[in-house]
Amino acid sequence: MATLRFQALQETFHRVPVTVHETERRSSIFGKNVFNEAAMRQYLTKDSYNSVMDAIENGSKIARGMADHISTGMKEWAISKGATHYTHWFQPLTGATAEKHDAFFETVGNGQTIEKFGGGQLVQQEPDASSFPNGGIRNTFEARGYTAWDPTSPAFIYGTTLCIPTVFVSYTGEALDYKTPLLRALQTIDQAATAVAKYFDKNVSKVNATLGWEQEYFLIDKALVAARPDIALSGRTLLGHASAKGQQLDDHYFGSIPTRVLNYMRDLETECMYLGIPVKTRHNEVAPNQFELAPIFEETNLAVDHNSLLMDVMDKVADRHNFKVLFHEKPFKGVNGSGKHNNWSLATNTGVNLLGPGSTPMKNLQFLTFFINTLKAVNEYEELLRASIASASNDHRLGANEAPPAIISAFIGSQLTQVLDELEKVTNGKLSPQEKTDLKLNVVGKIPEILLDNTDRNRTSPFAFTGNKFELRAVGSKANCANPMTVLNAIVAKQLIEFKEKVDGLIKNKKMKKDDAIFNVLREYIKDSKRIRFEGDGYGEAWEKEAKKRGLSNHKTTPEALKAKISKKSIALFEELGIMNKVEIEARYEIETEEYALRIQIEGRILGDIARNHVIPTAIRYQNILIENVQGLKDIYGAGFKKLAGEQMELIEQISEHIAKINNGITQMIEERKKANTIINAEKRASAYCTKVKPYFDEIRYHCDKLELLVDDEIWPLPKYRELLFTR
Ligand code: ADP
Ligand code: MG
Repeated sequence: MATLRFQALQETFHRVPVTVHETERRSSIFGKNVFNEAAMRQYLTKDSYNSVMDAIENGSKIARGMADHISTGMKEWAISKGATHYTHWFQPLTGATAEKHDAFFETVGNGQTIEKFGGGQLVQQEPDASSFPNGGIRNTFEARGYTAWDPTSPAFIYGTTLCIPTVFVSYTGEALDYKTPLLRALQTIDQAATAVAKYFDKNVSKVNATLGWEQEYFLIDKALVAARPDIALSGRTLLGHASAKGQQLDDHYFGSIPTRVLNYMRDLETECMYLGIPVKTRHNEVAPNQFELAPIFEETNLAVDHNSLLMDVMDKVADRHNFKVLFHEKPFKGVNGSGKHNNWSLATNTGVNLLGPGSTPMKNLQFLTFFINTLKAVNEYEELLRASIASASNDHRLGANEAPPAIISAFIGSQLTQVLDELEKVTNGKLSPQEKTDLKLNVVGKIPEILLDNTDRNRTSPFAFTGNKFELRAVGSKANCANPMTVLNAIVAKQLIEFKEKVDGLIKNKKMKKDDAIFNVLREYIKDSKRIRFEGDGYGEAWEKEAKKRGLSNHKTTPEALKAKISKKSIALFEELGIMNKVEIEARYEIETEEYALRIQIEGRILGDIARNHVIPTAIRYQNILIENVQGLKDIYGAGFKKLAGEQMELIEQISEHIAKINNGITQMIEERKKANTIINAEKRASAYCTKVKPYFDEIRYHCDKLELLVDDEIWPLPKYRELLFTR
């Protein structure tokens, strides 16, 4: 008997839901472990409180002397909450979060000890970070990278450690993390959007990009995962025959949440409350054992930190509930994958959502301005946006019979399409008073009404307008949102800067009124960005053909998609806006292509091992049983045995054929891996892994899955799809 599999199943069947105690109201525990405004008021002097707030609100620098006061207050607060250690918490380009804990505890001679945490320790650290990916920026023998405090994301206590969100940069100032370019992009969009928002309201002095992510994930019993080396090591199943019942019946989506899972979610949400992560929604997703968690949206930098932290918390809490969380975008073949929709908008310090239609024509002109500029930006940089969400794991989702496709397009709904069609007809040059009145009354003025009943939501579009925000749906469930958010905010910032120059130019040189100038530029933009608008179904060849005609990119694999990152156009964009320089961009490209090759390499090894060490030996065992049976029949019936043993003999042959195909496939795959490994250039190596190594996966899997169907269930060693997806 396949011991591990059946032991795991036994364990899983006997699980009882882990009890959780939710005694306190969520509102009263929210943010209890965060050094937020309330905690700062209590633990900081007025001056130091003001300097942190000034840094958060206006990006001003915190004086070194002030940092000493802040660190002391922070330490006192943390110790009062039971913290013993502190760490600079950062997001290196590995995708995970990194931390190295130091104790507050220090000796001061004569056997005396104190708890100490100075301003210097708060502001800057030098982790021995030589083994984080750096794409060649910082050779190991060079000076080390350092982490620097990001006061815009509050410190928090995780376990017994005070975590201080930081950026991670090289000694020479190049970004080595996700946060640094994101912060630069957010600063840029703030400036660009504020300048444009001032056309409509002089009181606007700051614009925050907002982000509300929706995290999808699978929950699988820990014991079952332990019996599946592929899931344990790569986060997805590399083989496994489809379950007779999958998601066809749609009976899981929004269905009642199983108790074990619900308890996990409640436990998780309580942890989130303490950490100030405002989670709000939980539900079943489309696939069996797939779920979703979404918070209330926040300022983008904070939301990104919260998502990174959340993924870590999810892992830890899952362990208590004997689950393993699968963040992989496509853990199961033939079953829906997971994404992380990024809901994005712009909010002013005066409390206005710039992508939310308002109650007056002027407010709606403001809405249209930001709405159309966003479309134009995505139209210009669709390829870069696609690159920002590319990864080996997300490739299984984008462009693989799954929504959304690898082609970036924007869905805006039929009513807004009509509005844009009307606006496109606006007179070139000065508008007549009548035209203006008409526009305001009948087009712009009507937007809020029409949006209220704009319910026709397209679920396959990678970039959809959903009433008062855009939803970038192409982001992978495993990804760090910083990457796509850096790109989206950068391209919209660039677009808004260009828009402002044009409008100002018309006002100054053509003596146009402000409204006329805005209408004129918007009209041109609507025309320019038509190709990005697509209201149809994003699947299939028809759209692929159409998109090709429109000149939209359709990069189905990561190595292809990533190239846009180092195009002249992208480098110019990031350099011009001061978000990243050429060295930083190229280093990131190198890291990502390298990571791609490594992922495929690891998967190839795992698949080879499982197929050779688990599948083939099992198939041979079963084949031997069949051979024994045939031999027995022959012994009893002599020459007439063939009539009785025909089926068995055919099975024996089929098994041999599959084994041969698997073995052959693995041998060839290994050959291709060897060849790929000799390629020094990272881009070419990634491409070799993609086009030469990866194609063997399907072939090997196909024959393994056939064997799964042939071989006696009693001896099959790996938990099957039905067991992974339907046990809970
Ligand atoms: P759904 O898209 O699933 O139908 P909602 O429209 O309620 O659901 O919103 C989904 C997500 O959008 C939530 O995480 C929410 O926080 C986020 N969201 C709502 N408004 C904004 C906004 N102005 N900026 C960014 N995210 C937002
Ligand atoms: Mg949504």
